[in-house]
Amino acid sequence: MATDPRLHPALTPAELTVLFQAAIDQSYNAVVITDAQPSPAGPLIVYANPAFCQMTGYALAELIGKSPRILQGQDTDAGVIDRLRECLREGRFFEGSTINYRKDGTAYVVQWNISPIRDADDNITHFVSVQQNISAMIAAEQARDLLATALNDSPDAILITDHQSKIVFVNQSFLDLTGYTQEETLGKTPALLHSGVHDARFYRDLWETLRKGKSFRYVFTNRRKDGSLFHAEESIAPVRNAKGEITHFVSFSKDSTARVNAERELKEQATKDPLTGLWNRRSGEVMLKSQRASANAMHQPFCVIMADIDHFKRINDGFGHSVGDRIIVNTGKILQAKVRNCDAVIRWGGEEFLLLLPYCELSAALEIAERIRLAVYEYDDAQVGTFSLSMGVAEALPGQDIVDLIDNADKALYQAKAEGRNCVLSSQP
Ligand code: GH3
Ligand code: MG
Ligand code: MG
Repeated sequence: MATDPRLHPALTPAELTVLFQAAIDQSYNAVVITDAQPSPAGPLIVYANPAFCQMTGYALAELIGKSPRILQGQDTDAGVIDRLRECLREGRFFEGSTINYRKDGTAYVVQWNISPIRDADDNITHFVSVQQNISAMIAAEQARDLLATALNDSPDAILITDHQSKIVFVNQSFLDLTGYTQEETLGKTPALLHSGVHDARFYRDLWETLRKGKSFRYVFTNRRKDGSLFHAEESIAPVRNAKGEITHFVSFSKDSTARVNAERELKEQATKDPLTGLWNRRSGEVMLKSQRASANAMHQPFCVIMADIDHFKRINDGFGHSVGDRIIVNTGKILQAKVRNCDAVIRWGGEEFLLLLPYCELSAALEIAERIRLAVYEYDDAQVGTFSLSMGVAEALPGQDIVDLIDNADKALYQAKAEGRNCVLSSQP
């Protein structure tokens, strides 16, 4: 053999032959060499390395002189084999993969490349094929595909971000829920969905929990692309790599808008008066108790106003019950408009209202009541005309029972009625 400039000059041709033999014999990849003789069975095996024998389950003696077709079977891709033969006929390099069968009949996925070997006269004398069993890789790929499909088809909305909270994956349910497209979400942060309902402190707590490696669960109020709000029961968890470092965050959420709205409605029904939308008596009693207790604890003044529409029976009798209802609703609106944000307006009875005024001394409460009295008296209903309110004001005394507080307001109201109505009186003049 002439010296080849690509080879180490210290190698003799004999040493080189031994080296080639050892290299192919010990190659991790399966190597098989066939002749290029035209025979009915196609090229026949003249050499196979131990890796090839191991991959196919055949002993070397069982392979020599046989066609590689003995490895083909029912699920071998005929199209791939046709392309292979065409390449071989034309003396071209071929690369492909298909299913082959071991001696014991078990299938494996093989990836091969086949090159023609030419002699000095450029005639193809053999083919050399280097092969690899890629069954494990294919199985892993299929498992990955299965997971991706499962994530994508999940009825829960799924979002995955990297550790810098850039979105790297969203599934179809997420897109359906939010109205965004994949392109509009990938690379962005979940802040895209912020509704303004949760404050900065909420998100700080959320991130603190996640960075500590804990999961976070909450019913979020988020915003869709079209601006509308939705409620989602969401759980967010950190994902760690083999070294235990957080690489991603994954969020699963269920749309709970219908449930949250239904609950809100139920709660509203339980706490609000359906006619006026004001607090009902039951929730008013609870508020009275808690506001009175906190005013007591903080040594803050606390007042109540009991208000009752004057001669309301005449309105009902003269104009009908539904007109009476309208007068009650409009009176409620005037009351609500004339008090501070921290005050509560309660529909205490038929045409009777209780106002809770925390941080308010008696003199200020009397002023508020007088403003309300005037506003109601100035109101002119298209059918009923003018009407009036009588009010009793009471300030809570230290250690006083709530029942006595309400009783004092009631007594003052009774007194106001007795003194001619359309006036404000307090229990402690
Ligand atoms: P006063 O000045 O002494 O308060 O006289 P009044 O006619 O307002 O007397 P009272 O407070 O005793 O009467 C309240 C009436 O309000 C009796 C009841 O039929 C009527 N009423 C109670 N609830 C409703 C309601 O929801 N709608 C209507 N339209 N009327 C109601
Ligand atoms: Mg009345
Ligand atoms: Mg009444």
